[in-house]
Amino acid sequence: MATGQTLSRMLPMTTHVCLLTLFTLSTAVPFNPKSLRADHSNHLLQYHHQQQQEALADVEEQLFPSLSQIKSTRNNINSLQQPQQQEATEAPVSYAGYKLFKTDVQEQLFPVVDSLDVEAGVEVWSCRKKGRSNHYEMDLLTPPHAVREVRQVFIESNVTYQEVIDDLQRAINMEGTTDEIIIWNRPAHPMTWHNYHTLDEMYQYMDYLAAEFPQLVTVEDIGMSFEKRPLRVAKVSTGGPEVKPTIFIDGGIHAREWVSPATALFILHRLVEFGWQEPQLLNRFDWIILPMVNPDGYVYTQKHDRLWRKSRSNLDSSPLCSGVDLNRNFAFKWSTGGSSPQPCSSVYGGPEPFSEPESRALRDILLKNKKQLKVYISLHAYSEMWLLPYAYTDAEKPDNYEDLYNVSVMGVETIRNTSGHDYRMGQAAELLYRASGNSMDYAHSIGIPFSFSLELRDKGKFGFILPKEEIEPTGREFFQAMKTVSEEVYQKLQATSTG
Ligand SMILES: [Zn+2]
Repeated sequence: MATGQTLSRMLPMTTHVCLLTLFTLSTAVPFNPKSLRADHSNHLLQYHHQQQQEALADVEEQLFPSLSQIKSTRNNINSLQQPQQQEATEAPVSYAGYKLFKTDVQEQLFPVVDSLDVEAGVEVWSCRKKGRSNHYEMDLLTPPHAVREVRQVFIESNVTYQEVIDDLQRAINMEGTTDEIIIWNRPAHPMTWHNYHTLDEMYQYMDYLAAEFPQLVTVEDIGMSFEKRPLRVAKVSTGGPEVKPTIFIDGGIHAREWVSPATALFILHRLVEFGWQEPQLLNRFDWIILPMVNPDGYVYTQKHDRLWRKSRSNLDSSPLCSGVDLNRNFAFKWSTGGSSPQPCSSVYGGPEPFSEPESRALRDILLKNKKQLKVYISLHAYSEMWLLPYAYTDAEKPDNYEDLYNVSVMGVETIRNTSGHDYRMGQAAELLYRASGNSMDYAHSIGIPFSFSLELRDKGKFGFILPKEEIEPTGREFFQAMKTVSEEVYQKLQATSTG
């Protein structure tokens, strides 16, 4: 029986493998040998792979006969399939039989997970460090052909695991979007907090608010996506002569994280339709909400592939793979770790900073308002984490880290008191993984002092396929946190201006 100890003697130690494993996600193109090849070559760079492969081969032979089995199954599948471009078919991608395993993996066993990724098409959905130990909680999406063998590898390597989703396609079917179920409980707009909505419905709701509350809400398109969909923001302001500090919230930068735009819209809803209950929020601050940074990706997840993450740009430099990870495309420490130069990678940072119309539009509105902007929050999912800059490195901290930290403690406490959900908090690069060229670091770098990034619900029970019943509770706990954050920031701003 293999043990972590045996492996650690045989394999070179690796660091940040959460990240390295994430590098390789074959962006939701199941069974596409081409994308695996491209991702694999990226791996070679990242890992000092030469040595490892040799070591792995030994380990596999001696300790993991199951891995060899997977390899031969995979080779058979590959040989049956002609490599094809991912755009070749319009049929939706099916995830029938895909299982999600929640595992407890010791750092020494990362190369084994890596092998599962490369050889069996296992995708790492999330990787969270467990306290100060060298254990990581990893969520692994496993294609049907590899399930038996992957389980075998878990057993052989003493990886404890739990099957949290037994058929991903069934979970997706039950998730529900308004394409199938429309609850017209209000005649003027289609928005509910009990369903995921289409982009059109989201924009209809924003337009409705602007028409219904013209003294409070203005809606503006700040640019167009690659496929020419508008990027729509709502500004909430009581007006008046005085320039107020402004809070900026964005969502949907990663397409498959559906609860993120839903939560951004929930905040807009509470501010506008129930703002009278919380006069401080509007008396002290203006708010700018950009619920959908990546509309093309979102539409793609609703029509074609539920697990798509990036934008949908088609660059001449990479005709085979579409999309850029917009949260790796910002011009602060761009491409200095935690992103990939490979167009087929799901964390591809683009050919240059701000190569994408979506990231440029977000940059421009931040720059335009940067004097007033005091808080920037980018909403992601999942893992339940409150993340502080920097994400590009854990070796350096922002000057105002203590302030950022104190505000985050209050936010996290508020969530715990509201719903019992226990968000972990800390510097992004330390708690999650390194990610250079992200929007939070950029926002902080241009002088927005309280810049955060949140990973919303859940902790991996459903992952990206968060049931629609969780939309409203997620929104509520975040709204309560925003009340606390705005109060704390307000006090700090007062102290600075009078001190
Ligand atoms: Zn994300």
